[in-house]
Amino acid sequence: MRNRVTSLEALEQVVQLTAEERAAWEPASQRFRMAITPYYVQLMDATDPDCPIRRQAIPTLAELTVSPGEMRDPLDEEGHLIAPALTHRYPDRALLYTTHNCAMYCRFCTRKRKVSDPTSATSHSDIKNALETIRQTPAIQDVIISGGDALSLSTERLGEILRALNDIPHVTVARIGTRNLVTLPQRVDPELCVMLRAMQTRNLAVYLMTHFNHVRECTEDAWSACDAISDTGTPIQNQMVLLRSVNDSTEAVIALNRQLLRMRVKPYYILQADLTEGIGHFRTPLETGLSIMEGLRGHVSGLAVPQFVVDLPGGAGKVPLVPEYRQKTEGDGTLFRNYQGRSVMYPGCFEAGA
Ligand SMILES: *Cc1c(COP(=O)(O)O)cnc(C)c1O
Ligand code: SF4
Repeated sequence: MRNRVTSLEALEQVVQLTAEERAAWEPASQRFRMAITPYYVQLMDATDPDCPIRRQAIPTLAELTVSPGEMRDPLDEEGHLIAPALTHRYPDRALLYTTHNCAMYCRFCTRKRKVSDPTSATSHSDIKNALETIRQTPAIQDVIISGGDALSLSTERLGEILRALNDIPHVTVARIGTRNLVTLPQRVDPELCVMLRAMQTRNLAVYLMTHFNHVRECTEDAWSACDAISDTGTPIQNQMVLLRSVNDSTEAVIALNRQLLRMRVKPYYILQADLTEGIGHFRTPLETGLSIMEGLRGHVSGLAVPQFVVDLPGGAGKVPLVPEYRQKTEGDGTLFRNYQGRSVMYPGCFEAGA
């Protein structure tokens, strides 16, 4: 963390920047801070500006353009706060902001409005207050420990939060939201693993939600970090964000998801990029995600098929988008097409003995 690349000079020592990237650095990093771990820098192709790792980490001029429909807080997370650090949008789960820090700042971050901004830091009393609110809200069963990046917290601090959740009878699931497995796998040390192992109890099941976007992020170090987490009994789920020129093809998603399965990471969601300001250059048409889903279902292991979801503006929630496999109905029957495009009649439902 201390050796992160945070200046233009440091960045130029490790990658050959284009004139555009050089021009973008000042204004774009003013808007959303740049910080890249040495580990993540080393995954970049130093000479290819289209490198999928570079595109996620290095500021570009396009970030200064606000496209129609984009918003500071597209999911209205602020509007759904029930305590200063707690967004409650769905009945049985809530999202807890524990920190504004991340190991690396992703250029497409949905929470740019507060991530990396020291004025939005969550205080100890905010977290205490949020935990008390959860205690008084019996409907909340599942708590997402988010940020920023929950592994920016010390292991001790994260352990305290998990212990507090463990002590609330109606909370049965906690999810740790982190990209450290991708951007700083060295964060997964024996101390963290001992704590996670101890926090898996009959009162609370702890899951880890991570964010791999490209198969090039699945390094030996990342694999070892995932193994160490899985060996504590903590299941890992992946939430990929669909990004133009990073992972917006069936081939890219298949390569990623197959490798994730080998690393015992379950592909959980493919998220349509949110309507956050300044990320229009990353956003793909809905058809791109749908076509990727068609390319997965039936063609690869069902374990490698996540759900493609759009998080609707205003906090209306996530909805899945599924390709239509029903072609038409004929009487009681339904004509389907299968994954190969072949039409097959499903005769419908008949009562036994009728
Ligand atoms: C995404 C999200 C959740 C979790 O949704 P799941 O579909 O259960 O994974 C919960 N709260 C908020 C505010 C969210 O954005
Ligand atoms: S790790 Fe998550 S919260 Fe942090 S910058 Fe990346 S997308 Fe945003």
